[in-house]
Amino acid sequence: NTPLHELDPEIAAAVDAELRRQQSTLEMIASENFAPLAVMEAQGSVLTNKYAEGYPGRRYYGGCEHVDVAEQIAIDRVKDLFGAAYANVQPHSGASANQAALFALAQPGDTILGLDLAHGGHLTHGMRLNFSGKQFNVVAYHVDDASGLVDMAEVERLAKEHRPKVIIAGWSAYPRELDFAEFRRIADEVEAYLWVDMAHFAGLVAAGLHANPVPYADVVTSTTHKTLGGPRGGIILARGTDFAKKLNSSVFPGFQGGPLEHVIAAKAVSFKVAASEDFKERQRRTVEGARILAERLTAADAREAGVNVLSGGTDVHLLLVDLRESELDGQQAEDRLHEVGITVNRNAVPNDPRPPMVTSGLRIGTPALATRGFTAEDFAEVADVIAEALKPSYDAEALKARVAALAEKHPLYPALGQ
Ligand code: PLP
Repeated sequence: NTPLHELDPEIAAAVDAELRRQQSTLEMIASENFAPLAVMEAQGSVLTNKYAEGYPGRRYYGGCEHVDVAEQIAIDRVKDLFGAAYANVQPHSGASANQAALFALAQPGDTILGLDLAHGGHLTHGMRLNFSGKQFNVVAYHVDDASGLVDMAEVERLAKEHRPKVIIAGWSAYPRELDFAEFRRIADEVEAYLWVDMAHFAGLVAAGLHANPVPYADVVTSTTHKTLGGPRGGIILARGTDFAKKLNSSVFPGFQGGPLEHVIAAKAVSFKVAASEDFKERQRRTVEGARILAERLTAADAREAGVNVLSGGTDVHLLLVDLRESELDGQQAEDRLHEVGITVNRNAVPNDPRPPMVTSGLRIGTPALATRGFTAEDFAEVADVIAEALKPSYDAEALKARVAALAEKHPLYPALGQ
């Protein structure tokens, strides 16, 4: 029963340093968030000790009566939250959920149609080195160069030409809402299944700020740790129960063994939080913050510095900055912002002239700062700091001080100390 700091000071020091980093910098990686203490408490609980292969009421181990309660609550809550008839809360991650979903809908060698990674898609939607790209015949659709929007005419043309088994709608880096009804129409026309991966925007859906894909898709997957703000993990949902057996057996025993019941309990807590008014208000600030950033970064002085915003703005929790006309590449811009205390990630723009490790863009997200309590006024200040930092000449010390003031104004995890 030795506490972490005594048993393993090296690991304790890394954890403490990471807490200080999160507290003292502005986290703007679009896929990150800060889980509530109650979520971390459930995740750090004795449920980590329990084997529970199978599903609630049908386990391959004894002593599952309490984890059954927690897992069933998680299932019921997430079904309610998204209006789904089916839910599986066991996937260890978003990628695991996607793997299980894809193998439930298609066989290796089948054709899948997804958004190109370089245009904002995810690795699991058909990237060459991923299981999806190695085991399936991948056809990719793209965003239109001029508008920055998914080219639905291309989706329809490719669907008719290649007759995919599965059409994938979802993204990791795209600033607009997808037209799920149109994806459904195209899928029906070519008799394909429609799988929506809402990993990024699930929190907005839960808050009613984004169209819900569940009524349109055959299967919906998500992570639980991005806009949804819970523990790291994945979920699978469906509007009906037709695929329930296939999906369940694809997760276990198909790809996973024992479920992480401590994480599942933490997911349940986060679904409760996501049904609250406070959560809706936070998601509204998330979207508002992204809009404020996009407006500021399309102002004349930002454009003069070669900064452009893809698609001209955003409907969601992130914006994509195009630096093709800037003297900075994606790596340099990421480093600049890191220098002043803002964490973002560099991101390829469509048809990027630079290699993937450098890129010509940035992806900037607001979920973590909204969770921290940032208001419209705070986001305007953040936007100004970013715009200044991306100019050819900038005052690093002054910008660092402005970042520190914002971080101090909204303390993160005060109960955990500084
Ligand atoms: N799907 C999408 C759209 C994502 O953006 C991500 C993560 O970046 C994932 C799936 C994978 O989630 P995880 O990192 O939990 O495997």
